[in-house]
Amino acid sequence: MTRINTISDNQLIFLGTGGGRFTVFNQIRKSGGIWFKLNGKLFVIDPGPGALIEAIKHKLYPNKLSGIFLSHRHLDHSADINTIIESMTEGGHKKRGAVLAPHEATDIDPVILLYNRKNYTLINQKEFETYEIDGVKIEVKCKHHHTTETYGAVFSCKSHSFAFIPDTAYFDELADCYKSKIVIMNTVFCKRRANFKHLAAEDVYRFVDKFRPEKLIITHFGLSFLKEKPWEVAERIASDTGVNVVAAYDGMVVDL
Ligand SMILES: [Zn+2]
Repeated sequence: MTRINTISDNQLIFLGTGGGRFTVFNQIRKSGGIWFKLNGKLFVIDPGPGALIEAIKHKLYPNKLSGIFLSHRHLDHSADINTIIESMTEGGHKKRGAVLAPHEATDIDPVILLYNRKNYTLINQKEFETYEIDGVKIEVKCKHHHTTETYGAVFSCKSHSFAFIPDTAYFDELADCYKSKIVIMNTVFCKRRANFKHLAAEDVYRFVDKFRPEKLIITHFGLSFLKEKPWEVAERIASDTGVNVVAAYDGMVVDL
């Protein structure tokens, strides 16, 4: 883990690691999304509340973005998508970038304003479809088991890759879909909760039983999980499984 490095072309930058209503809407952890560079091309995943402010604070400028990936329309993931789009296209004046978002987030209960749909490519993800944006491959996987249409993806360039698993109830195919050296997993809970369609840290055991990545990063922590100290939970899972499991924190940078 290092600081944001303008020289490194392949990095993950966590500008938010909070998940769920209480953590995010009280800003106990930030919610500025996961920014990444692959082959020097800048993208953001799930720009939640505060994404624009956090990005600029960290000298990540949305007018350098190649694309935005929205996993689903819940506000902890999408609240700043309009400000980031507007900044990416310089107020709609510059043709730039692509936005990948679920159909439900653009057409059923839109979180992207209608007036804010010019001068970028808007794509509705489809299950098992692969997209290429500025040389970065985005392999969308199966539809998640969440309360609204939700997708994750494996992102890669020729030399580097990582997988992102957003909100979902656990299902066995997760490990088949998200085979990558580095896996990011949104674990809102520490312990599994029956009636919530979210992953828990306990599900990491089921995942690594089927596929062992080189590094597994848990993030998107709900309030009850934060009370359990995610970094200690990650350490415990790592020592139980032998897989390098780490808990993300706001501002964490990972070289890919
Ligand atoms: Zn959600």
